[in-house]
Amino acid sequence: MTGSVIIAGLGPGNPDMVTPEVADALAQATDIVGYIPYVARIPPRDGLTLHASDNRVEIDRSRHALEMAAGGKRVVVVSSGDPGVFAMAAAVFEALEAGPQDWRALDIRVLPGITAMLAAAAAAGAPLGHDFCAINLSDNLKPWDLIEKRLRLAAEADFAMAFYNPRSKSRPDGFARALDVLREACGDARPILFARNVSRPDQTLRIVPLTDATPDMADMRTMVIAGSSATRVIDTPRGPILYTPRSA
Ligand code: SAH
Repeated sequence: MTGSVIIAGLGPGNPDMVTPEVADALAQATDIVGYIPYVARIPPRDGLTLHASDNRVEIDRSRHALEMAAGGKRVVVVSSGDPGVFAMAAAVFEALEAGPQDWRALDIRVLPGITAMLAAAAAAGAPLGHDFCAINLSDNLKPWDLIEKRLRLAAEADFAMAFYNPRSKSRPDGFARALDVLREACGDARPILFARNVSRPDQTLRIVPLTDATPDMADMRTMVIAGSSATRVIDTPRGPILYTPRSA
């Protein structure tokens, strides 16, 4: 078998944030596999077949990629941000583990990308300058009780917290509950960053105290970062800078 599967991160949106390594892999690919809006970021060219599929079919998509590689294709599976962060790399390995033994001989590589959390943090300052954690607020693949437990314990441990998938049309209420848990654990003054469409032309950043944070400030294009007890805002004429000092 001479085919390969590369699972590549396209970064948060700005083409300048695609790594040269990922750009090379895309240029060498025979087939691109991924969720429709991510595949739409790849310009068509001769010799390249684009396979765009809907959300929530990650395992089918992964099997398809592995099957094509077993047939000799150079397949790139694309994710936004980093492919190992709530994205396709783990899905491909789930399919590999459950699939035929001969898939394990394939050349499979993961190429990192700039994850939304880091792009959002950089756009606002340095809110992740001390210890932090990342939590996916979607309950598609885990029970809501577990999300609440992790939120409570992370707040108790005084981590800054980065929240992916804060709110969607199919999950309108979870984020309001998450804000309630945070208010109980962190108090009203804790700064919260809402970073929407980070690195894209329509990027917006809002920093508000927890007491002013409302569910409608977040959607599926928003990264939410809650500060730790040490996180603070420096006011400048060019706008607020959100940062967490390096020492506890
Ligand atoms: N693998 C991706 C994350 C996939 S989960 C990564 O590493 O970035 C999808 C969630 O990521 C979205 O709901 C949103 O919370 C966040 N996200 C992705 N791109 C974003 C962007 N440009 N701006 C703000 N949030 C983004």
